[in-house]
Amino acid sequence: MAHLDLHHFICREDNYGVLAHDHRSGATASIDAPDALAVERALKTKGWQLTHILTTHHHGDHVEGNLALKEAFGCTIIGPRNDGEIPGMDKAVAGGDTFTFAGREVRVMDTPGHTKGHIVYYLPSEHVLFAGDTLFEMGCGRVIEGTLEQMWQSLDQLRKLPTHTIVHVGHEYSEANARFGLSIEPGNRALQQRAGIVAAQRTKGEMTLPTTIGEELKTNVFLRPESPEIRKKLGLENASDAEVFAETRRRKDSFK
Ligand code: ZN
Ligand code: FE
Repeated sequence: MAHLDLHHFICREDNYGVLAHDHRSGATASIDAPDALAVERALKTKGWQLTHILTTHHHGDHVEGNLALKEAFGCTIIGPRNDGEIPGMDKAVAGGDTFTFAGREVRVMDTPGHTKGHIVYYLPSEHVLFAGDTLFEMGCGRVIEGTLEQMWQSLDQLRKLPTHTIVHVGHEYSEANARFGLSIEPGNRALQQRAGIVAAQRTKGEMTLPTTIGEELKTNVFLRPESPEIRKKLGLENASDAEVFAETRRRKDSFK
């Protein structure tokens, strides 16, 4: 079976929209629906018809297009069972659930932290993860509804996916995240290099996605609490990984 065709685009200000399309059946999913018009425009560009929306969490910048797209396409909306209100949701899912999209298995993982019921979608046959606002390029979501401990557990789960897993995330925050990462782990060569690459891409207005789990393991300080340099920087040489993560996240919240 040929891989799903993925198409991503930036909408609103810094949200990423992603479409996943299966040529054979014509099935097309939008991962979240930040902006109905932007999603429709992307569909039109590709000549695809929307059949599904896979929602990661209830925030407005992820569900605002739900009802208009459902009205226009009659698509099925799948979303988190334990998060806030998901407009137009047809099917509620939670961690451990699996369902089929275009003949592929989709595994739902609970990743609470950013919101209390945030979920991500992992397609093992495609080696693809749709991470929403849990994991960003060189960053992670702000911990709003859950606890820092929960967010760490969520990210730790994602860390264990195969390194070649292709990752799509909810926002283009790569430049700011690289800057913060270098303030925490300035000696990380891979991060220095990537910071240069994304800065050049963003200057040209290019998108920086997708990333991979392997790339994030090397360059994302939120996934690197074992790093001796980070631990030393934070004065947490003997702390747990969860504590190192929590302090890293707190520093990001006040980083200018
Ligand atoms: Zn969000
Ligand atoms: Fe968001």
